Amino acid sequence: MDTQCLFRSSEGAFAFYSITGGFMHLQTKAIHTGVDKDTAYNSVITPIYQTSTFRFADVGKTLGYDYTRTSNPTRKALEENIASLEGGVGAVAVATGMAAIATVLHLFKSGDHIICTHDCYGGTDRILRTYQEQFNLQISYVNLHDPAALSAAVRPNTRGVWIETPSNPLLNILDIEALSRIAHEHKALAIVDNTFLSPVNQRPFELGADIVVHSTTKYLNGHSDVVGGAVVVNDPALAERIQYLCNALGQGASPFDSWLVLRGIKTLGPRMRLHEQNAARVAEFLSSHPNVRKVHYPGLPAHPHHALARRQQFGFGGMVSFELNGGLEEVHHVLRTVKLFALAESLGGVESLIDHPMSMTHASMDPQLRAQAGITEGLIRLSVGLEDIEDLIEDLRCALAPAKAGDAAPR
Ligand SMILES: *Cc1c(COP(=O)(O)O)cnc(C)c1O
Repeated sequence: MDTQCLFRSSEGAFAFYSITGGFMHLQTKAIHTGVDKDTAYNSVITPIYQTSTFRFADVGKTLGYDYTRTSNPTRKALEENIASLEGGVGAVAVATGMAAIATVLHLFKSGDHIICTHDCYGGTDRILRTYQEQFNLQISYVNLHDPAALSAAVRPNTRGVWIETPSNPLLNILDIEALSRIAHEHKALAIVDNTFLSPVNQRPFELGADIVVHSTTKYLNGHSDVVGGAVVVNDPALAERIQYLCNALGQGASPFDSWLVLRGIKTLGPRMRLHEQNAARVAEFLSSHPNVRKVHYPGLPAHPHHALARRQQFGFGGMVSFELNGGLEEVHHVLRTVKLFALAESLGGVESLIDHPMSMTHASMDPQLRAQAGITEGLIRLSVGLEDIEDLIEDLRCALAPAKAGDAAPR
């Protein structure tokens, strides 16, 4: 039992912030952890230290910072905050989610083998292929829904297992605990992309993962006004290595972007709950719609991995995808007719978005891999926002009604 005090110390900073649970619950940590960086004026909100460099206090002596590529107090505040939410010991905040993924891939050497879930994020697939071609990283894409498939794919040089759950855009769920266990049996790192659920709904370290990556562009920031990423680790040596790589590669997030994400995270808990509440209603509406063939939402009891999602997650999240009856013409009609759902890539913001994975987010994916993953032309993905649910459902109801002659000129 921790005996340290949760309350503010005489220095104005938190005497104790819990990384492993401790006294503070997640939403309290989201608001308080790491934010007290201003010892000069005790500003309640973390200042934006918009500076590239820091004056030395004396020859060979700094006040903890020397150059912003290496470290910056505003970025540090965000890093401490995200590390505490995930229950890690360290984090780096980087320029984008892809910067986070690229930084992690630099842990590996030429000739190392990485096993990646077959329906990963398109950008993950793109960079893995690039590293395979240019740096001889060996990549296997494997359907990891049956953890035994991982055991079968392991080679003597397997060093990493790339897990993304729920998957994008089909919301398949992978068993993080079982996959991490198998990875560890082979001395490979279990890496989880936790972008879709955020630490509010899923905490991979508690299930055995070694590294968590985020696109903070999505739910962590939550307001569609910044791109960012984070790598979180739960081992001090790995934390040091990731910090080294972040500095060496120059991946660090800017002070202003860090500040925006830190600001967004303050409302993470309530936002995630409302995203989920709205998504559940949308999934329910779509499930009973005659023009919808199939709905993918882990919160639906009919979802093939519903039981696993219940066991492993603290919530089902705000993403819903569905397959429309009909072909591209019907899909285009829906995409052009919705008014509140903006036709746009990305996800996790307060405003609802609609995406056609095949022609948008997943267009760069290898067509064979895409087909194998089950991403069809009739598939539509929704990022359900925080608007009033009645308005969102009405928007979908109008768009899903069969097109009549003369309807819906393109906007
Ligand atoms: C968006 C996304 C990324 C990439 O993040 P960027 O911030 O766009 O670079 C990685 N993984 C998942 C699951 C994503 O949704």
